[in-house]
Amino acid sequence: MLPGDPHHAPIKMPDYLPRERFQDLLRELECAGYACIGPTVRDGAIVYERLKSVADLPAGITDEQTPGTYRTHSSGGVRQFAWANGPQALKPLLFAPRETLWRSTREPDGTLAFGSATLAQPKLAFIGARACDLAALALQDQHFLRGAHSDLHYGDRRKDLFIVAVHCSHPAQTCFCASTGDGPSAIDGFDIALGELDEGYVAQAGSARGHVMLSVLALPAADQAQIAEVQRQSENAANMQIRSLPGRNLRAALFANLEHPRWQHVADRCLSCGNCTSVCPTCFCHSETEFPQLDGASSEHVREWDSCFTRGHSYIHGLTIRPDTRTRYRQWLTHKLGSWHEQYGRSGCVGCGRCISWCPVGIDITEEASAICVQAP
Ligand code: SF4
Ligand code: SF4
Repeated sequence: MLPGDPHHAPIKMPDYLPRERFQDLLRELECAGYACIGPTVRDGAIVYERLKSVADLPAGITDEQTPGTYRTHSSGGVRQFAWANGPQALKPLLFAPRETLWRSTREPDGTLAFGSATLAQPKLAFIGARACDLAALALQDQHFLRGAHSDLHYGDRRKDLFIVAVHCSHPAQTCFCASTGDGPSAIDGFDIALGELDEGYVAQAGSARGHVMLSVLALPAADQAQIAEVQRQSENAANMQIRSLPGRNLRAALFANLEHPRWQHVADRCLSCGNCTSVCPTCFCHSETEFPQLDGASSEHVREWDSCFTRGHSYIHGLTIRPDTRTRYRQWLTHKLGSWHEQYGRSGCVGCGRCISWCPVGIDITEEASAICVQAP
């Protein structure tokens, strides 16, 4: 059973965490041995980094996102989570962009010795996970931990992860988690979920250890007006979303339209840069490369993020199966929204909108899927 499982949580009314006591939550997590990772502003974007104190949080900052655009600016308020999402989710924390999986060395007698490169991982507490991020995390767990072979590197980092989720109250124009059924409220997969109000937070435990953490803080109960306001904010956040996919299972519609002229239409704009797959919290494609020392004494086996938009990704022994952008974009969309249903029982899109904001030419997955699935060629 993974941490954050709601079935482990005793049923209890939510607590109230005053804003001035947020530091106490960070302190108690650190006392329990967790290094706190949370949102902070760096280089004009909200990114997740090690939090030294509550002062690192993006208080009074909000974001504005449109296709191909991401900007932060002052919200004029006191809230620390009045923004939608930045370029990262939990993916880089658990599925490292580049890491050595194993090493081999040549022994004095000429034989090879193989050793794991797994390092002792610090216990991490992730502060500020969004509902879409939790849905993506569940998919990454399914891929890395529940297949025929469990990934030791991902599993090592995942096993002690403590998650403090924050319900979304400020979706971006690019968000569409309500249409995929993954947000804007966090439902499960967290240890503690926070609903932000101007004065503080409504705090709900989602696991036994989340319950213990809130008990240590000895917080007062949230009142009915505070709970109702969090609920109202969530409904408002869902209603504010202007984008949607044309359905939750587009497998049949996509595979019936493999020769649709829209694939070329999108290929004429797409740069095949792979930004969309880098920021996507569910994409897991990678390449593995051997780096031997020139003297033959040792070698490192390295895994790096890859993308279905690179030429090498579909190269097999003398042949590149997807030589052009049309077939690469088609591979991405038909896998993400189509054949994921066979592999993982649902679509691979959680509606975070990152691929729309961070695409340099503003290609919008909801617009492309609608054009291909709804309009006949
Ligand atoms: S496909 Fe785009 S909107 Fe969907 S989960 Fe990935 S980045 Fe988010
Ligand atoms: S869709 Fe956009 S982000 Fe993705 S490869 Fe094409 S240009 Fe890059």
